[in-house]
Amino acid sequence: MHAKPVDPHDFDASSAVHVGRDCDMTDVFCEPLAMTSAYTFASARDAWERFSGQKEGNVYTRFTNPTVRAFERRIAHLEGADDAVAFASGMGAIASLCHALLQQGDGIVCSRDVFGTTVSAFRHYMGRFGIRSRFAELTDLSSWAEAIDERTRLVVLESPSNPTLKVGDIRAICRLAHARGALVAVDNTLLTPVFQRPHRLGADLVIHSAGKYIDGQGRALAGVVTGSPELMKELRGVLRTLGTSCSPFNAWLLLKSLETLDVRMQRVQDSALALADWIGRRESVLQVHYTGLESHPQRDLACRQQHGHGGLLSFCVRGGQSAAWQWIDALQLVARCTNIGDTRSMATHPATTTHCRLSEAERHTAGIADGLLRLSVGLEALDDLKVDLGRAFDVIERGAAWCEPVRAVAECRS
Ligand SMILES: *Cc1c(COP(=O)(O)O)cnc(C)c1O
Repeated sequence: MHAKPVDPHDFDASSAVHVGRDCDMTDVFCEPLAMTSAYTFASARDAWERFSGQKEGNVYTRFTNPTVRAFERRIAHLEGADDAVAFASGMGAIASLCHALLQQGDGIVCSRDVFGTTVSAFRHYMGRFGIRSRFAELTDLSSWAEAIDERTRLVVLESPSNPTLKVGDIRAICRLAHARGALVAVDNTLLTPVFQRPHRLGADLVIHSAGKYIDGQGRALAGVVTGSPELMKELRGVLRTLGTSCSPFNAWLLLKSLETLDVRMQRVQDSALALADWIGRRESVLQVHYTGLESHPQRDLACRQQHGHGGLLSFCVRGGQSAAWQWIDALQLVARCTNIGDTRSMATHPATTTHCRLSEAERHTAGIADGLLRLSVGLEALDDLKVDLGRAFDVIERGAAWCEPVRAVAECRS
């Protein structure tokens, strides 16, 4: 007597891949997540029309996806631009921008204080293709005027700069660039459209590392560029061909993040303002960098072109690296983390992390003092942040680290 063997094929394999494909999403309240690489065509003619560009429609997620498109439309609107293209990361956006706009023989002019990897991208990788990079001092218009010439096709800047919060006159730099036929791209990662809208100041392109304040929760990498439909068409061509694409899942997260961007930015700014003033009163602190302080050397310019000051600040403690490390190591609530724009507050010692590959002379020029500390303010209760930071200041103020005679502000510049 043998038991009837189980039929190994007693399973509806076709239904496993087709049942439920007609799910109706029209009354779904949150934007549906189109986690798909491909799209179906109603007919052979439909496929031909979409592929040849005669008809709008999705072809392949490398270059269009409904969820990514929803994110692009939302951020374009917030920046006051007609269109946007999203990318896998901020660097993916910057690399794609170069591929879209530049060719051998062209020049880039960039502010010295931009994100370090942006400098490497221009200098090392674009340089290989015969694209020349020059660097200008963000705050000095004559330095921009000198660097921009007939070969310059693209001007790139970040204002305020990270971590020293220097401000560039975006309107004036745009005028200089446009007079010589160059396009201007402003990296607006630090302030987001809540506090600065560079298109209104004349910028042709706005760049974001969207995993910073836009996501604001440290979950996803993405980048985005906003600008005119003509420029975005060039960028989408690069996306289609070089594949620096944003994941639909990340775009879906970022769509939701944009809904809370304003309240998060207002809250981190309130705390940053209160902390900048409070930190400046500590006896171990030589200098605080934050555009919201009356003492900021470019306060007027910042107030003219920004609608707020954001959640990033830096300050210099007496006692150089040793005091700065003691301060970092005393933190309990604030994370020792080199990222920015998270719900959680984060502190960094730039000289030994983000800027450690620079020579001492380059750090000096960039204003990265040995005692400089950067704080990305999060959403914790202000009083709890004061307790944690206060404890770290107590440690260095009680210790001997800074008890040598004050070497005044000069120490902060070295
Ligand atoms: C992080 C950052 C970038 C790079 O973005 P990724 O998403 O990390 O590739 C570019 N610009 C600024 C200002 C940044 O902070």
